[in-house]
Amino acid sequence: KPSDLFRPGRENSRGVNSADEGVLARLAETFAGAVELSWSATPLGTEAGTPMRETLNPASLSDVVGHYVESTPEAVNVALIAAAQAQPGWACRSPEERAAVLDRASVFLEERTPVLLGLIMREAGKTLTNAVAEIREAVDFLRYYAEQVRTGFSNDTHRPLGVVACISPWNFPLAIFMGQVSAALAAGNVVVAKPAEETPLIAAQAVAILVEAGAPEDAVRLLPGGGDVGARIVADHRVKGVMFTGSTEVARLIQRTLADRVNPDGSPVTLIAETGGQNAMIVDSSALAEQVVQDVLTSAFDSAGQRCSALRILCVQEDVADRVVEMLKGAMEELSVGRPDRFATDIGPVISADARDGINAHIERMRAKGCDVFQVALPASCADGFFVPPTLIEIGRVGDLKREVFGPVLHIRRYVREELDAVLAAIRETGYGLTFGLHTRIDGTIRHVTARTDAGNIYVNRNTVGAVVGSQPFGGHGLSGTGPKAGGPLYLVRLLAQAPSDFTA
Ligand code: GLU
Repeated sequence: KPSDLFRPGRENSRGVNSADEGVLARLAETFAGAVELSWSATPLGTEAGTPMRETLNPASLSDVVGHYVESTPEAVNVALIAAAQAQPGWACRSPEERAAVLDRASVFLEERTPVLLGLIMREAGKTLTNAVAEIREAVDFLRYYAEQVRTGFSNDTHRPLGVVACISPWNFPLAIFMGQVSAALAAGNVVVAKPAEETPLIAAQAVAILVEAGAPEDAVRLLPGGGDVGARIVADHRVKGVMFTGSTEVARLIQRTLADRVNPDGSPVTLIAETGGQNAMIVDSSALAEQVVQDVLTSAFDSAGQRCSALRILCVQEDVADRVVEMLKGAMEELSVGRPDRFATDIGPVISADARDGINAHIERMRAKGCDVFQVALPASCADGFFVPPTLIEIGRVGDLKREVFGPVLHIRRYVREELDAVLAAIRETGYGLTFGLHTRIDGTIRHVTARTDAGNIYVNRNTVGAVVGSQPFGGHGLSGTGPKAGGPLYLVRLLAQAPSDFTA
């Protein structure tokens, strides 16, 4: 059976192979300490008696990761006053000095990897492999932006915006948080950072590391809390730029608020938004099926599909569709879904009850419409947390999908050769333009298809996630964001009020 062709044994599956067990056992011991710790985050300026909130491990709800205090209006005000005062001093430090702070922070991140792994696995529900990648990406952002200011910036010609608000998501609670904050700091701005309310404790560690590395405490102020805290920050006239990664809906709200505000000199307030995707992959009949299945598993289900780059719509040419779908189902059954603290786990939990319920509601809606739905069974150990099994849904038209579903759900659209251009048009018409994948062994098809996509990041004959800082700048167009691409050469200049007129990337 075709599905048997893709039933790797545990020893060579995507999970952890047996040769790794010794390494993993030692690693487990090293960060067992982190599992015992209770973490906390309290913004400066918090009035006595303000209640504490908990963050929970989404894989195991009895595990309280730690406590934080939601930022009160007074705490937001105190942070903004302090940040505005600190800004000129930070901007006057030479680019080399600012870069040195980021470089030091990157070393601290590496030194504290064991403890941070434990915290990321607990608070964000990330698997070990994903948690390692998360720390590596944060390190990469710090070093990349440090290098850019060190080699390309001068305080005479590059003037920062001032106070920048960084509003970041829970799906990359360290990497995107650190990416935003380090870019803003590198360019000479100071930061008020509002991390996702699901993952404030990871953000608190990132801030502590930056301060220990030499960033003034007032140049990077953490304001934990939910949407109302973010809204208060964005509306404040002292904020001269907003960096946001999250949903398209929230980006629109921010844009609306900023449209009602202008800087004293009449200029619009800078917004960098990186939002969702309705990401597709085209697989034609020349594609190498085994490679397709491997790359689709990673693109659609890694991180439980909770990446804005994740694959949502797999378009497979009819001639090979049965074979690819059957192999994919076989491979999905081999995925190990469960708690991240079991090291063989491939797919961890989704972030919250709301997330799980929203994803399940979508699956039920599609089932009610008559779509074929395939799901793997969840093991009993998942009862304790928020889990959604990897799911395949066959759809008739790309246009049947209205919104991004942020979870391990992959839609399949079969197409015949003559329909290819219509399918590509439907993908463009979603309005999103973040990632796009293509599997083919025909050069002409690569040229034909890539010329007809609007995506920011196009991947050919590989998976569509895990853009590497510096070599694969990441970001999209349309409903997917404002650009510029994070981890690319044009990012830092967008964080300046005034860039040298002869600037070239
Ligand atoms: N940069 C990540 C990737 O390439 C995705 C970032 C996000 O989900 O916001 O997978």
